[in-house]
Amino acid sequence: MIDTPFDEIPKIHSLLHQTFASRKTFSIAWRQHQLLQVARMLQENHKAFADAIYEDLGKPAFEVYLTELNVMIDRAIISAKRVSEWAKEKNLEDHPDIPPLQKQWKPRVTPTPKGAVLVISPWNYPLILSIQGTIGAIAAGCTVCLKLSEVTSNYAGLVQRLVPKYLDQDAIRVVCGGVPEVTKVLELKWDHIFYTGNGTVARIIAAAAAKHLTPLTLELGGKSPVIVDPESCDLELAARRVLWGKISNCGQICVSPDYLLIPPSATQSFVTGLKKAYASFYPPNPDGTPSVFKSDSYGRIINLQHFNRLKSLLEKTEGKVLMGGGIDETERRIEPTVVLVKPGDVLLETETFGPILIIVEVEDMQRACEFISAGAHPLVLYVFSKSEKVQNQARKLTMSGNLIFNDTFMQLDVRVLPFGGVGESGYGRQVLENTFNCFTYERTSLDVPDEVEQKIFLRYPPYTERSFEV
Ligand code: NAD
Repeated sequence: MIDTPFDEIPKIHSLLHQTFASRKTFSIAWRQHQLLQVARMLQENHKAFADAIYEDLGKPAFEVYLTELNVMIDRAIISAKRVSEWAKEKNLEDHPDIPPLQKQWKPRVTPTPKGAVLVISPWNYPLILSIQGTIGAIAAGCTVCLKLSEVTSNYAGLVQRLVPKYLDQDAIRVVCGGVPEVTKVLELKWDHIFYTGNGTVARIIAAAAAKHLTPLTLELGGKSPVIVDPESCDLELAARRVLWGKISNCGQICVSPDYLLIPPSATQSFVTGLKKAYASFYPPNPDGTPSVFKSDSYGRIINLQHFNRLKSLLEKTEGKVLMGGGIDETERRIEPTVVLVKPGDVLLETETFGPILIIVEVEDMQRACEFISAGAHPLVLYVFSKSEKVQNQARKLTMSGNLIFNDTFMQLDVRVLPFGGVGESGYGRQVLENTFNCFTYERTSLDVPDEVEQKIFLRYPPYTERSFEV
């Protein structure tokens, strides 16, 4: 990755505004071609992408194909197919709330591109989180500045080299670098900012956007809880599904189950289920050392700073380690670890963002919901229960961006579901048409015919001789 020189940044900004002003990106054919070029770029260089992400995150190639590459190829192609439908003018003449007179005024709404936009992406799913926003912006007809995370520098370097070969350089530009570069980018006026990352930086972005009244989409994270109701779910299956959600990308994912609420009487059986699942995913070495340390099916912690943060949490917690706990500093690997804590423990203070599952014991569903509602609204709430009553309690007594029953992560697979947070987990919605909607505004129009003058003349002053009835 080569940091973008400071003096290049304002030039990129003004080029993207000029291109937008030329209206070149309004053409549906242009949008479709660029979207298909994104798919081509990913397809023709799939191995280079998998290798770069392995270098950065140690992420197994299978996981890259399953959760990032193939998903984005698919979504770029779908966007190319669907964009003409999404961008279509909507005729509101037949709207049930429109009075007959106004039907003749040609009420219309057109999704219209916002302009030159900025997409800022994080390191944890570097491909999906940079490309998803970018294809939404292209589909919308915007010009795009993509600011990639400096933390995944191999991935950023690859995108920096490939984008000029595949995409229109007048309209889609990449900026690389760290805080100084992104700060420079944020001084400039953009027409929308689409940021994915942590809540602390989100506040910096929101403050910078406020100076220009730039609208924002904030895709953030937080502590996503799991409620387990042992009376109405299969505990062993729940444990297997939770563990898979926890170990994917080593817990470095915004929708990772962070802490789990369960009645004390069920903790032991649930942990037995976790251990069974763990042994089946990563059969232990004959000498008892954790096989995850050398496994090709387990990633590593992104960098030393995050590794030390997690290590320090495990040292400071007053909880009891019920599973795992092993650490391999040279490989930056942390075994899937389960810790039983009491409220107030250090592990409950911030988003864990690592392979540590925290268990908190609560007596019942009511208390579980109260515990969740006492904190910030999470991005996701997972509930393991087949009881309608329990599911309805979760719906009524809590708030979260997504509410998922009896599995983890499957909301990411169902691409028609609007994805996003609420409160501190962010605002705005994404994926396919929802991402397109972030980068367009609804431009309304009317065309009032001369002939209706007879019917609207009452609006003209003087009003004195007229009475008004309700
Ligand atoms: P990160 O450190 O890569 O930062 C994200 C972006 O912010 C980068 O491009 C970086 O250059 C920029 N940045 C960093 N410091 C900045 C500053 N001071 N001013 C302006 N910009 C700055 O990634 P991260 O924030 O550690 O990402 C992980 C977080 O993202 C977690 O909290 C996770 O839950 C959240 N996340 C949310 C989603 C979602 O879709 N809701 C998806 C993935 C990650």
